[in-house]
Amino acid sequence: MLTRRGFCGCALGGLPFIATAAHAQTTECAVFTPARQGETVPDDAIARLKAGNQRFTSGTSVNCDLLAQVRDTAHQQSPHAAIVGCIDSRVPPEIVFDQRIGDIFCARVAGNIVNVDIIGSLEYATKVAGAKVIVILGHNACGAVKSAVDAVKLGNITALLENFAPALATLTPSDGQRDSHNEPLVQKVAEANARLTAESLTRRSPILAELVQTGRLKIAAAMHDITTGRISWLS
Ligand SMILES: [Zn+2]
Repeated sequence: MLTRRGFCGCALGGLPFIATAAHAQTTECAVFTPARQGETVPDDAIARLKAGNQRFTSGTSVNCDLLAQVRDTAHQQSPHAAIVGCIDSRVPPEIVFDQRIGDIFCARVAGNIVNVDIIGSLEYATKVAGAKVIVILGHNACGAVKSAVDAVKLGNITALLENFAPALATLTPSDGQRDSHNEPLVQKVAEANARLTAESLTRRSPILAELVQTGRLKIAAAMHDITTGRISWLS
């Protein structure tokens, strides 16, 4: 099941492409209302994000009237998801998940780490504003991860990189030289960072823990591949 409101990821392979595109446009361009958000469960929100990335990577992103969406969300917002992503210019969550105005909250910071401000933002996005899923979205070849691997010391970046300590602690001698040119090692740290950051949220926020425990929220980790645009899910 995807949703109870007509979103359809169903097989339309027998129809002409234009009919498929029109179908997607009709269902995807309607903005989220409180009622529509209210009938969305966490698995629906994850399915929407997966379907959006499938559209993005297949070149069938939906072309909506964004100004109409601005008008339709002018007095309220009811997003279905909250994304924590990297500032990297190649990983804009709205585009890679094929989402639009009013669909998702986005917090972006180098290395998709979280601190008290971002966790507070996620508490707002979910407890107050009703989003059903939180996704920690990492990516390969991340400059912040490479800097953490190399233990860079530079201005405020030094303090930012302290957030990678748990991910760096997953490294073992078998991972080889701790150097940002060691691509498998950088990827391991990036994946560990996304996964451990997602896992830390319920420990660091009783509000998020309560939402998860009562089935109103799911927290997931995912990785974006900057060479393909494809997003793989770690949890
Ligand atoms: Zn990055």
